[in-house]
Amino acid sequence: MTDAISLIRAKRDGQRLADDDIKWLFEAYARHEVADEQMSALLMAIYFRGLDGAELRTWTAAMIASGDRLDLSSVGRPTVDKHSTGGVGDKVSLILAPLVAACGAAVPQLSGRGLGHTGGTLDKLESIPGFRAGLTPDETLAVLASVGCVICAAGSGLAPADRRLYALRDVTATVESIPLIASSIMSKKIAEGTSALVLDVKVGSGAFMTSYERARELAETMVALGEEHGVRTRALLTRMDVPLGRAVGNAVEVEESVLALQGHGPGDLMEVTLALARQMLALAGLAGDKAGDPAAAIADGRALAAYRAMVRAQGGDPDAPLPQAAHTQVLAAPASGWLTSLDALAVGIAAWRLGAGRARKEDDVSASAGIICLAKPGEAVQAGQPLLELRADEPERFGPALAALEGAVAVSDQGPPPALSPVISEVGPA
Ligand code: URA
Repeated sequence: MTDAISLIRAKRDGQRLADDDIKWLFEAYARHEVADEQMSALLMAIYFRGLDGAELRTWTAAMIASGDRLDLSSVGRPTVDKHSTGGVGDKVSLILAPLVAACGAAVPQLSGRGLGHTGGTLDKLESIPGFRAGLTPDETLAVLASVGCVICAAGSGLAPADRRLYALRDVTATVESIPLIASSIMSKKIAEGTSALVLDVKVGSGAFMTSYERARELAETMVALGEEHGVRTRALLTRMDVPLGRAVGNAVEVEESVLALQGHGPGDLMEVTLALARQMLALAGLAGDKAGDPAAAIADGRALAAYRAMVRAQGGDPDAPLPQAAHTQVLAAPASGWLTSLDALAVGIAAWRLGAGRARKEDDVSASAGIICLAKPGEAVQAGQPLLELRADEPERFGPALAALEGAVAVSDQGPPPALSPVISEVGPA
């Protein structure tokens, strides 16, 4: 027989938690016999002391066991999903899910909403008139089986312990812990029932992980957890110092995603999307298939057709005009030369202040607010040329957004910065 105080004390003093203790903890927490303040203290102890591989496996399994596990065996195609740790202008899921479905896999994207400066996939899709992100498990399976992809909200039955733990971490400064992030993300993905998973772990100023070493450690931890739970898992580390693509916001990112599916996507966005698609198709065993070439699926319109079918199946009208902002303002280049930086974090915060993101879970987001990057690092610019177009529903939002952008742009007359691939490296099982 154990108790919460003993577990907190043990972890505080650097000892391991036994498997039975972790199982007891989650069961007692579900019965409200462990108080939120005790769980918070334990989370802080884990923040400082960590969890070793075996503890983390049991911790994650207990989070999965706190709720339902979807059974996707009726779908009839290999299932493979993708998760991004979140970035500015990261609209990859909107393109990737229909793209990989068009190549023969089934993509069950159970997503979240945005909080803070990184946008949420569901917020973006909900700017499409009629689109429904809240599907029942039966509706989710029906869309997945008929279209090959679905992007909807993870229901409250999947890993409910994570929801309670995340709310505590959010208010106790214990979010930035690799074992806690890894177990939170992977418990939801494993419970979702996918057979394979590709992780897009973002690195840079606009990402959760600003250092390459921490991002790699997070990627390795998540890949190991996925594999231990029977989900074939790989990760790509990708750059997030600059917004991905040119659009940052909700409707503006949907517009850019449709352009990408029509074959007109910006280079960095397409490079990341195609690299992830190839990994997903390889894990699904479809890479050698005739239908399994993602570039061909864009060129011949199959990916766009899958996107339109998914939007329709979820109640949206893919032909309806998207909401447009009432007001715009530009930020001009301070000098002539080459644009050498455009800070992702600053652009993300500015878009959020324009109304594209939320500060609290209960807040609404503006469908039309956002930023268009008219120039990206590496391009030549003239003094006074518009660099960013800011869009908002209320003009008083421009002042705070422009304040966030102070120092975000650098122009040099020393030649263009070196062109770096947005895909840094791949992480597979050890
Ligand atoms: N996303 C999650 O789902 N959980 C975390 O802990 C961090 C990011």
